Amino acid sequence: MTDRSELLAASDETIEDAMQYASPMVLRGLLYQLTGDESVIDMKPGAAAKFVVGSELADPEDEKLIRKKAADFLKAYRDSGAGELDIGPVERLRTSLSLTAGQQIPEKDFDIWQEETALDRWARGVKWSGGKAPEAAKDYRVAVIGTGISGLNTAVQLKRAGIPFVVFEKNPEVGGSWYENRYPGARVDTPSRGYTHLFAYDYPFNWGYSPRDVNLKYFRWIADNFQIRENIEFSTEVLKMTWDESAKVWTLDTKGPSGAGSQQFNAVISCVGFLSRPQMPDIEGMDSFAGTICHSAAWPDGLDITGKKVAIVGSGASGYQTAPVIGSKAAKTYLFQRQANWLYEDLAYLKELPEQTLWLDRNFPYHANFVRFRVAALVAPGGSGALKVDPEFEDPHAVSPVNKMLRDACVAFVERKLAPRPDLIPRMIPNFPPMASRPIRVDTNESVLDALARGDVELVSDGIDRITPTGIEAGGNSYDLDVIVFATGFRANEYLWPMEVRGKGGKRIEEIWEKDGPRAYLGAMVPDFPNLFMVYGPNSNNFGGFTVVDLLEITGQFAVRAIAGLIENGQASVDVTHEAYWRFADILDKSEEGMVYLDPRANSYYQNGARSSVNGPVDYRRMWRWLKDPAGDPPAETDDGMRPYFKEDLVVT
Ligand SMILES: Cc1cc2nc3c(=O)[nH]c(=O)nc-3n(C[C@H](O)[C@H](O)[C@H](O)COP(=O)(O)OP(=O)(O)OC[C@H]3O[C@@H](n4cnc5c(N)ncnc54)[C@H](O)[C@@H]3O)c2cc1C
Repeated sequence: MTDRSELLAASDETIEDAMQYASPMVLRGLLYQLTGDESVIDMKPGAAAKFVVGSELADPEDEKLIRKKAADFLKAYRDSGAGELDIGPVERLRTSLSLTAGQQIPEKDFDIWQEETALDRWARGVKWSGGKAPEAAKDYRVAVIGTGISGLNTAVQLKRAGIPFVVFEKNPEVGGSWYENRYPGARVDTPSRGYTHLFAYDYPFNWGYSPRDVNLKYFRWIADNFQIRENIEFSTEVLKMTWDESAKVWTLDTKGPSGAGSQQFNAVISCVGFLSRPQMPDIEGMDSFAGTICHSAAWPDGLDITGKKVAIVGSGASGYQTAPVIGSKAAKTYLFQRQANWLYEDLAYLKELPEQTLWLDRNFPYHANFVRFRVAALVAPGGSGALKVDPEFEDPHAVSPVNKMLRDACVAFVERKLAPRPDLIPRMIPNFPPMASRPIRVDTNESVLDALARGDVELVSDGIDRITPTGIEAGGNSYDLDVIVFATGFRANEYLWPMEVRGKGGKRIEEIWEKDGPRAYLGAMVPDFPNLFMVYGPNSNNFGGFTVVDLLEITGQFAVRAIAGLIENGQASVDVTHEAYWRFADILDKSEEGMVYLDPRANSYYQNGARSSVNGPVDYRRMWRWLKDPAGDPPAETDDGMRPYFKEDLVVT
C-alpha cells in the first residue's frame, strides 16, 4: 500500500501550485488514462517539446484548463481517502501514451512503450517458468565484472532471480564512470529521468541533468537498497578469463587487496564499460613537467586549481564541460583544441528541479511513470532526420534538411554567445556536420562559450609541440603552467582491454576482431566464447532511438534470461554460431550506411576505420524484440531472419 500521508495532508493551494510545474503533455495523457476524460484529446500540442517545465500545448487556455482538471482530480482523490489507485484500462493506455508523446504510438510498438513506462518496474528481469528459482540455480555461479550502471543492473536482476553471483570491481566503490569522473563540472547530459534503471524509475533526482555527486549517490543507493554490496569484491581487477570447454566453466584470474586470486564460474557477464580506460597521449617531455598532470577521468584527490595556471587538453564532452568551471577558479586557463565540437544549448541544463516536480512524483499516482515515458518519447526511434545522410540533399556542411536546421541553430548559438569575441567564432564552429561526433549539451547561459567570451578561458588551436618542466610549447608560444588536465577521452575501441580473454581452444577474443574491429552478436556474444555476455559491448552505444541505459538494460536481460534458460533446461553452455554472428554484423553494417557519424571530417571515437565499433545504429525496436528471451519460444518469423533463440542462432549443450 503506497503511503499517501503527504497528499492527505496537502492543502488545495499546494496541489494547485504543484500543478503549475507539471508538463501539460504528461498531464494530458495521465488524466486521460486515469479518468477517460475525452476533452483532453482535442487539445493541440504546441511547438515546445521540453519536458517537466514548459508550454507544450498550442493554446494557453488549454494549458490552464489541463492544470485545473489535474488539480481537481488530485483534490478529489485526496478527499476520497487516497486509496490504492489502479492505472485503469490497459486498452486506453496506447491512446494515453500517444497523448503524452504528441504522436500516435503504433499498435505494433505498444508493448515496448508500455515497458518503458515502468508500470512493471521488474519487466526486464528473469521470469522463471515455475514462478521461482529451481533448485539447480543454487549450484550455479555467475561472475559480473564492473559496478557501473550496467553491472549494478545485472547484479540486481541476478539477486532478484535467486542466481548466485560475485561482482568484481577494480575500484573501491560502485558507480563506474560516475565514481571515476570527478573533474570540476562533471554531470550527465542525457536527462536524469532517462538515466535510471527501470526498476528505480521513481528515484527522486532533484536535477534535470544530475551532477556527478548526485549520480554517484544514486549508484550507492542502488547498491545499498538492493543489498548488492555483500556480493561485490571491491578493489579487485579481473586480469584474465579462460574458458574450459571440458568442464564448461570460466576461470577468472584476479588481483585484489589480498593478492592474486582465481575462481571458477559457469557464466560471466562483463559490464566493464568502454569509456572506462583513459586515453593518455604520448607527448615529448611529458615526464619532465614539474607541476601536476592528470586525466579528466582520474582527477587527483585534493587537487585544487584555485589561483593556478591550468591547461585543458581536449575539446570533447569532458573538456568543454570542465573548461568554464576551471576557468572561473584558476588564475589562467588555456583550452588546447584540435577540433571544435558542436554544442547543443539547453536553458535548463544547470538548473535544479523545482520541489513541486518532486512533490508531483511522490503524490500524483503514475506521474513519475508518465514523465519517464515522455522523456523516452523525445528520443523515439526513427524520430530524428538529423542522423542520416539524405542522398538528395546537397550542402557542404550538413547531411539532411533536419541536420541543416540543427546546424543553423548551433551556429546561431555560437555567434550569439561569442558576439563579444567575433575572432573566436570560426574557431568554435566545427568543420563536420552536427551529430557526427558525440553531442555535447550545454547550458544556454553558462558554458565554455561564455567562459571564452569573458576571457576566463583562452583558446589555443595550435598543436602541442612538447611539454617542458614549466609548461607547454605550441605554435611557437610557451604556456607557463601549474596543472595539465588531459581531457583526451578513452580507449573506446578496445573492448574488454586490458583483460586477456581466451575462449574455445585458447583463442583470444581479439582474433575474431582482427578483420574490422570489435563486434558482437546483439552487442552481447562472440562465437567460441560460450557463456560470456557483454553488456554495453560493441555497437551498444545506442543510436537507434531510446537511451543507452535502455539498450544496456535489455542486453543485461538477454544475458540473465539466457543463464536462467540454461539452469531451467539443465544445460551447461550457450554459444552463438559464427554464421549468426556475421549475419547480425551484416544487419548492423546495413543500418549504419549513411549514418552521419561516419563523416570523415569528424575526429571521433565513434569511428574505428570505415565503421563504428561503438555506436548502435539498429532501430531500438528491433533490438528490443531480438534481446527479449533467448530461451523462450521462437516466433514463426522475425525480421531479417534473426533467430536469437536456443537451438537456432544460439547453440546450447
Ligand atoms: C564523463 C562521462 C560522462 C558521460 N555522460 C553520459 C551521459 O550523459 N549519458 C549517457 O548515456 N552516457 C554517458 N556516459 C557514458 C557512460 O559511460 C555510460 O552512461 C555508463 O556509465 C556506462 O556504464 P557501464 O556500467 O556500462 O560502464 P562504466 O560506468 O564504465 O563501469 C564499468 C565498471 O567496470 C569496472 N571494471 C572495468 N574493468 C574491470 C576489470 N578488469 N576488473 C574489475 N572491474 C573492472 C570499472 O572500474 C567500472 O566501475 C558518460 C561517460 C563519461 C566518461
